[in-house]
Amino acid sequence: MAQADIALIGLAVMGQNLIMNMNDHGFVVCAFNRTVSKVHDFLQNEAKGSKVIGAESLEDMVSKLKKPRRIVLLVKAGQAVDDFIEKLVPHLEAGDIIIDGGNSEYRDTTRRCKSLKEKGFLFVGSGVSGGEEGARYGPSLMPGGHKEAWPHIKDIFQSIAAKVGTGEPCCDWVGDEGAGHFVKMVHNGIEYGDMQLICEAYHLMKDVLGMDHDEMAQAFDSWNKTELDSFLIEITANILKYKDSDGKHLLPKIRDSAGQKGTGKWTAISALEYGTPVTLIGEAVFARCLSSLKEERVQASRSLSSPQGVKFSGNKAAFLEDIRKWSICAKWLWLEKNKTWIRKKIVFFFNRDSSLRYHFTVCLQESWRRTVGVGVQHGIPMPCFTTALSFYDGYRHDMLPANLLQAQRDYFGAHTYELLANPGHYIHTNWTGHG
Ligand code: NAP
Repeated sequence: MAQADIALIGLAVMGQNLIMNMNDHGFVVCAFNRTVSKVHDFLQNEAKGSKVIGAESLEDMVSKLKKPRRIVLLVKAGQAVDDFIEKLVPHLEAGDIIIDGGNSEYRDTTRRCKSLKEKGFLFVGSGVSGGEEGARYGPSLMPGGHKEAWPHIKDIFQSIAAKVGTGEPCCDWVGDEGAGHFVKMVHNGIEYGDMQLICEAYHLMKDVLGMDHDEMAQAFDSWNKTELDSFLIEITANILKYKDSDGKHLLPKIRDSAGQKGTGKWTAISALEYGTPVTLIGEAVFARCLSSLKEERVQASRSLSSPQGVKFSGNKAAFLEDIRKWSICAKWLWLEKNKTWIRKKIVFFFNRDSSLRYHFTVCLQESWRRTVGVGVQHGIPMPCFTTALSFYDGYRHDMLPANLLQAQRDYFGAHTYELLANPGHYIHTNWTGHG
């Protein structure tokens, strides 16, 4: 008998937690997994005593669903999603809805939207943010795809999503085709940048100011009570405090070689494709790539010298404040830049509010130039701090050296150029000829 409001396929950590979240909000969920024994385990453990039901097969799962059927996939991104869609389709009817909640590449979602539309099914690709904890107690959800599906899933999605102060759900319809996964991709890219900025601040504290773990933890704790208040700053303070079973800090024992699953890289690739200078996210991805060259770096450290005889002699507390202020600037510059509407708001405020403009461009600017300068003198790699400053300096210049670039392009490739006095009119010069 059809009794379930929604089905979820994929009983790893995200799937299990999202099911329990939906259950808590009064929805009857039917659980399924490729390895069916995990359905039994789930029902006997985490889901014991709940309204969650299980399925033995896709056919069984589909038969237990109210119509139009709503089926969430939370499986490994990539081929597993296509495989499940292919197996599901023969059991579905026109108007049924498949929702992919994994970290799928947005172009895959667009492709799946097109192919399922032709078959009469509705497809939604939704970003799910907040990790395991978010999935269990309130994720941020970014659904996009076939909008006709939205009225059928809105109630469930907005019920289980995190809520902001006023009770507004962190979930709304994002747009057509792969829009939901595109937003999730950029969201992850932003996180790459934010994490790398924090790592660079930590590097400066540790190697320029010589702060110990407890001092650094205290600094991040206090930053968390300022404009920099964020989940990542909070966990950084906790990580710095954490001691291993031997009573020593765990952090310095961790191999300095970062992994990545792809969303930062995809954001950087999209930025290149769309011609948007999201340099900070690109640098954050490359910083992870460089970190993974551990053996090469160990070799290089033996032969490539660092700046000699440089020792920090300034005021420690003042420089720490410079780093904090620069972190605010860098975050504003790139984070807000990636959210077009916020960027417009900032530009609006900049134009209207001269005190904000003064604060940002005069007071904070001194700090950020000092921070980058001291870091460079000490040989500290700061790819994100420096690229954010370069972006700012490029963005605020009404005249860049691209005039020379245009002349070079015209010189070797006859690509033509415009004169400042006559925009829109392209001309070519025979640079080696005589008129
Ligand atoms: P996961 O480790 O990415 O995937 C495990 C699930 O995928 C299992 O149910 C597994 O089934 C199934 N699976 C793997 N390969 C398969 C294949 N070839 N065919 C069919 N099923 C296959 O699980 P997860 O960490 O819970 O993440 C689920 C999705 O959410 C992923 O797309 C992930 O990127 C995304 N996500 C994860 C997080 C997070 O914090 N973990 C946060 C946001 C989004 P079996 O049990 O049979 O192996």
